[in-house]
Amino acid sequence: MSLTVGGRPAAPAACPLCGAPDGARLWVRHGFTWLRCRGDGMVWVTPRLAPEAVAAIYAAGHASKAAGLGPADRRVPARYREIVARLAAIAGGPGRLLEVGAFDGLFLAAAAASGWGIAGTEIDAAAAEDARRRGADMHVGPLAAAPFGPAAFDAVALRDVIEHLPDPRGDLAQIAGLVRPGGALYVWTPNFDSLTRRVYGQHWGAVVFPWHFGYFTAATLTALLDGSGFDVVSLASRNLLLRRADPYAALDGAAPPSRARPLARRIERALARLANPVFARLDAAGRHWGAQLEVFAVRRGAQATGERADGGEVGHRDA
Ligand SMILES: [Zn+2]
Repeated sequence: MSLTVGGRPAAPAACPLCGAPDGARLWVRHGFTWLRCRGDGMVWVTPRLAPEAVAAIYAAGHASKAAGLGPADRRVPARYREIVARLAAIAGGPGRLLEVGAFDGLFLAAAAASGWGIAGTEIDAAAAEDARRRGADMHVGPLAAAPFGPAAFDAVALRDVIEHLPDPRGDLAQIAGLVRPGGALYVWTPNFDSLTRRVYGQHWGAVVFPWHFGYFTAATLTALLDGSGFDVVSLASRNLLLRRADPYAALDGAAPPSRARPLARRIERALARLANPVFARLDAAGRHWGAQLEVFAVRRGAQATGERADGGEVGHRDA
C-alpha cells in the first residue's frame, strides 16, 4: 500500500517494537498521526515517508545544522569523557567503539583521546568527512549496509539516533551481532514520559518531524534492549528540554528545528542542574521525569571475544 502526504511518497507504519498495525491515537497533524501501541506503549508516527523523501529533507537540513555550530560547540563536552569512561568500565577497558550516526565525530574523538579505536556510520557524507579527519573509520550510509564483521566492537554508542530509526528492532539485532558478548552499549534518546513532554504535549521540543520517528520511554527502551540481547546496567533520565518546536518546518523546505539560542540554552542548563538531582531521586524510585533517557547496557552471552553466537543475529538480515 502506498500513498502520498504533501506530495511526498509515504507508507503506513506499524509499531516498531511489536508490529501492531494500529494504536491509540495521540494527535494528528499535517496528515501524520502519532500513535501509542496498546500492547507495549511504544509511540510512533504513521504514515512513514519513503526513504528518498526523508533523505531529501535530511540533505536540506545538514547545511543549516552545520552552520549553526559555533565555536563553543566544537569543544569536547566533559560529559563525553564520562560516557566513554563508563563504557570502558563495563567493557573491561577501552577497545573498539562504533558510533551509529556519528555526525562530525566529536564524540568519537573524545573516545579516541581515552584510548579507544573509533569507527562510525553517518548518512551525511560531509559530516562523515569531518569525522574521518578526527581519525574515525567511517561508513557513509545506513548501518545495514556497513561492512563491519561479527563481534567487531567492544562498545556501541547510539546518541540521539534510535528515535530516528524506522526499524529500531532490526537495527538493534544487527548491533547485537556487532558487539562481542560482554561489550557495552550506550543509548541517549528523548523520554516520551518526561515532565516537559507531559506539559508541552505535541509542542515538546523533541517532537520534530520527520527527524524523530519513534518515541521511547524507560519501559519501551528497556524492552527493546532486553529483546535484542542486552541487559540494562543503568537507566537514568536527565534535563528539561524547555524549548517548543515547530515540528513541521522541514515539510515546507525550511531549516530543521534550530538549536536553542545561547541565552536560552544557558538558562535551560542552569535549571537542569537544579532539576537533575531531583530526577535522579525519582529515577531511583522508578519514575523517569527527565527529558532524555540515558542507558548503559551490556551484551549478553558468554562466547569468547570475536566469536559469533550460534545462529548469530548478524545472519538474520541476509536470511
Ligand atoms: Zn507495539
